[in-house]
Amino acid sequence: MSSDDRPDGTLDPEDWEAFRAICHRAVDRMIERWAHARERPVWQSVPDAVKDALAGEGPPERGIGLEATLRRFEELILPYPTGNTHPRFLGWVHGSGTPVGALAEFLAGAMNANLGGREHAPVHVERQVIRWSRTLFGLPEGASGLLVGGTSTATLIGLACAREAKCPGDVRREGLQGGPARLTGYTSREAHGSVTKAFELLGLGREHLRLVPVDAELRMDVRALQEAVAADRAAGFHPFCVVATAGTVNTGAIDDLAAIGHFCREQSLWLHVDAAFGGLAVLVPELAPRLAGIEQADSLAFDFHKWLHVPYDAGCVLIRDEGIHRATFALRPDYLAAAERGLAGGNPWFCEYGIDLSRGFRALKVWFTLLAYGLDRLGEAIARNCADAAWLGERVAETPELELLAPVALNIVCFRWRDGRLSPAALDALNAAVVADLHEEGIAAPSTTQLDGRLAIRACLCNHRTDRSDLAALLEGVITLARRRAATL
Ligand SMILES: *Cc1c(COP(=O)(O)O)cnc(C)c1O
Repeated sequence: MSSDDRPDGTLDPEDWEAFRAICHRAVDRMIERWAHARERPVWQSVPDAVKDALAGEGPPERGIGLEATLRRFEELILPYPTGNTHPRFLGWVHGSGTPVGALAEFLAGAMNANLGGREHAPVHVERQVIRWSRTLFGLPEGASGLLVGGTSTATLIGLACAREAKCPGDVRREGLQGGPARLTGYTSREAHGSVTKAFELLGLGREHLRLVPVDAELRMDVRALQEAVAADRAAGFHPFCVVATAGTVNTGAIDDLAAIGHFCREQSLWLHVDAAFGGLAVLVPELAPRLAGIEQADSLAFDFHKWLHVPYDAGCVLIRDEGIHRATFALRPDYLAAAERGLAGGNPWFCEYGIDLSRGFRALKVWFTLLAYGLDRLGEAIARNCADAAWLGERVAETPELELLAPVALNIVCFRWRDGRLSPAALDALNAAVVADLHEEGIAAPSTTQLDGRLAIRACLCNHRTDRSDLAALLEGVITLARRRAATL
């Protein structure tokens, strides 16, 4: 029996005071990390010994107790994170988390609420978060919503609603086998892969998602969209939805939502907006006009865990027509019968609006973040990221050794080191190697992408801890490492 075991067989600690002391130590340790975030390397590789320790063992027959488990966490796990809580993490689109959100995670864990439904305060918290969200984006009062793991799931749910609304026949009963529906959807070539995945999962098929060309600013070419829809109609297809992007993952480009929304209404097409991170630019008064038209969305997917820094994971889908949302997912077997009174009340239940029956209390960390910081401070952090991205783009443009590869539309800077003597393939390889060097030396963590067939170093400012000294360190690191590599070629 380990020292944590209780004679009564419950899983609670035997000695609450000892448990309290362990918790306080763990909290102190994390506060030290936040307070000294900039002093660590942004990333370090996971040593083989650590990987072995985390790979080799069978499931533990006997527990080692909380204290020893916490020690193992501190040795094996805590030193080797992704790095996205570090000021010089600039890769992909990762939120950087906040102490407020982390505390809320603990509180939610302690409450251990199940938000599938029923009548309890946590359900009302999620409803409040959804109401706040729909106000933020200008969706009507009747719009419904659901917190989910992220925009990928939110988009799947949004497009399931689109299929329910637009597919002829009873798609829930017959699937797509009921008739020759030949549904087609439209998104831009710069759209996120989660749209493709949703088409695959919904039985629509990837090839029925038409990838519309983009303009010089990497936004969907609206005329090309109109032509594609017309051509499909003429060929006997059934166009049913358009997925517009508010902030593409490659460059932060924002599609012309007003024009696309207008076209969708005219053509009776469902408009889904992937606003994963870029949608939150509505919080910045100077940027909000660029999202004009987002309020026309029939469904809208976005993340709290990216530009609002809520700890992973937390995304949201909003659906303009609550009736369609519910018709797409509602299923109430006898064992979930709703009551007028008591704990089994609380209609409607969240399980009628999505895939999951058991659902965690994601809403609490969102609620804490929004309430503790307020939209003004969260928006200021977003505005600062965009201003710093513009600054970084200017530094790149004025540095002869560097080349800007796309306009800085929002918070993403795509660039590379250049050298006229190197072939395109050699330049791609060199820039990719420089990014891996930056990671391994713990200097900074940008990612890479492809633009026009060229490899780009991609710095995404989705980090409230980043300042211009971090960006200067990134550029200095790129130049130093690239010169060092070029000298050996
Ligand atoms: C991150 C992202 C997604 C996917 O969101 P997840 O929360 O990772 O599921 C979709 N679209 C865009 C534009 C993104 O940046």
